[in-house]
Amino acid sequence: MSTQAPETREFQTEIRQLLDIVIHSLYTDRDIFLRELVSNGADAIEKVRYLQLTGEAVKDQDLSLEISIATDEAAQTVTITDTGIGMTKEELTENLGTIAHSGSKAFIKHLAEGQKQDLNLIGQFGVGFYSAFMVADKVTLTTRSYRPDAQGYVWESEGTGSYTINEIEDSTRGTQIVLHLKEDAQDFAKEETVKRIIKQYSSFVPYPIVLNGNKVNTVQALWTKNKTEISEEEYNEFYKYLANAYDEPLFRLHFSSDAPLSLNALLFVPQDNTEQWGFGRMEPGVNLYCKKVLIQEQAKDILPEWMRFVKGVIDSEELPLNISRETMQDSALVQKINKVVTSRFLKFLGEQAESEPETFKGFYDKFGVFLKEGAANDFTHRNEIIKLMQFESSKTEAGKTTSLADYITRMSEDQSSIYYVNGPNREVIEAGPYLEVFRDKGYEVIYTKEAIEDYVLSLLGEFQGKKLVSADQAELDLPGLETPGDEGLNEEDIQTLTTWLKDILGSKVTEVRASKRLIDSPALVLSAYGTHSMQRMMQLANRDLGQTSPSILEINSRHTLMKELNALRAAEDPFAQIAAEQIFENARIAAGLIVDPREMVNRLYGILERALKKS
Ligand code: ADP
Ligand code: MG
Repeated sequence: MSTQAPETREFQTEIRQLLDIVIHSLYTDRDIFLRELVSNGADAIEKVRYLQLTGEAVKDQDLSLEISIATDEAAQTVTITDTGIGMTKEELTENLGTIAHSGSKAFIKHLAEGQKQDLNLIGQFGVGFYSAFMVADKVTLTTRSYRPDAQGYVWESEGTGSYTINEIEDSTRGTQIVLHLKEDAQDFAKEETVKRIIKQYSSFVPYPIVLNGNKVNTVQALWTKNKTEISEEEYNEFYKYLANAYDEPLFRLHFSSDAPLSLNALLFVPQDNTEQWGFGRMEPGVNLYCKKVLIQEQAKDILPEWMRFVKGVIDSEELPLNISRETMQDSALVQKINKVVTSRFLKFLGEQAESEPETFKGFYDKFGVFLKEGAANDFTHRNEIIKLMQFESSKTEAGKTTSLADYITRMSEDQSSIYYVNGPNREVIEAGPYLEVFRDKGYEVIYTKEAIEDYVLSLLGEFQGKKLVSADQAELDLPGLETPGDEGLNEEDIQTLTTWLKDILGSKVTEVRASKRLIDSPALVLSAYGTHSMQRMMQLANRDLGQTSPSILEINSRHTLMKELNALRAAEDPFAQIAAEQIFENARIAAGLIVDPREMVNRLYGILERALKKS
């Protein structure tokens, strides 16, 4: 009985759009609505259990924690009831009607981009509740919060523009959802249909699901069972339940450890990296249990942040039940678990790279970005992560990669360091002057195509006892590299030419010197601050077109261009200065630095004019 006039409210725009798609979709696999509603019920029960464990006052303390489903063919309804935390009026309007999560927008976008309207992913976007409207033309939801002095409410909607909220007399804790089934969805009022769907999607819900009075799921903590007792299918179903996924995981790791601490872990890597699709940052995906009791869903500090793409369960009997989000971070035990599980996971990935290189490559293409993030930020595991990193190099085919360890096996006898160079892509790196000397010596060079990779390698400094050296580093100490012989400019000319160049280029350079590493190119620039990728980052950050970050200019004293330049200089031809400036700009372009095009275009016209006159 209502104690107040019903209140009508409008859905927010994004929810309206979403509902419009859900209602009118021709989507055939509508079964998933049940998975979504059951999983909401299970979430709500999980929260009650947690409140009870931590000693919070909860209404109807002794109510059994379960989800019951009733089908009614005559009334054409299916009703899902849980004894979870329920919702207050504020929570109702917040959770069902407003975009509580950014998910609805992203989901609409995802649907718009897809070939077919695949609503299967709805749960992953945090808007699973609305899938009820795939099968129902009216949803009546009755809810009563666990808070002792809360009020009960009925929320009702036909899924069009609005919903109503109505206060009710006192009721027991939890939520009941009645779905008034559409004409074409009568099948869902049949017990056997519902039973089949629950078996398919909800076998791993950790609370009893009671259908018309009979329990239909076997509640079990799969991760505590022996590996040999678990079938492939059970693992996959568990993953689908856990990750709201519809496909199978890419990798699975199930292990237990006794020392240094006792734990069970079951981890999965999904098929896809949703961050790559642009859906924002993932939440952590691992739930923390103590002896099968859920302590924290999507626990934050149990694994390093970069491992947020991993879904699964960690169960350790050593954890205190009442550990809170705040105390997690400081707990030495949590840190220990973090280290054990992360190291085991990295070791597992290493094994996959060995035994299933193709699958691992697929994994790396999608999830390598997380490994790079880890290598940059996770000091504890950096050395292990780096072993998994993959790079193209001067000795791999385009598109193929190598690890640092494999690189070492190919090192020349007289080579003591690992060399790497940064550039936007293979073509640009190979066209540049930096590889020349390495090519000549037959040394392999790693190509880092992202600034973060370059950063990680410079951070690391060395790998398995070999120094990591940036190939565009100013001071390059290559074994057996000789100063060019007499076919080039002589010492005296070099001295005059470099002094003259330094004069002309002024503050743009800190030094001009003869190069020990150029073979085919006339000149190159080196960063006066470490490497070019660092300098490029500084340029971007300071919106600096390059005039204020000086370089070291190295010239190839054997190159015809340099010999000609020196002759012009000696003859005091004013064109020598123009040529010198252009050579310097070209070297900057080859280094991937940003140059000011305006000045250069005018200079080039001058050069063209002279060239055309001569010919
Ligand atoms: P998600 O479950 O990913 O948060 P949903 O659209 O399924 O997204 O549900 C939205 C929110 O509505 C939930 O986060 C929860 O706060 C609330 N909710 C839904 N169903 C229930 C329920 N049975 N009991 C309590 N709260 C619920
Ligand atoms: Mg949900």
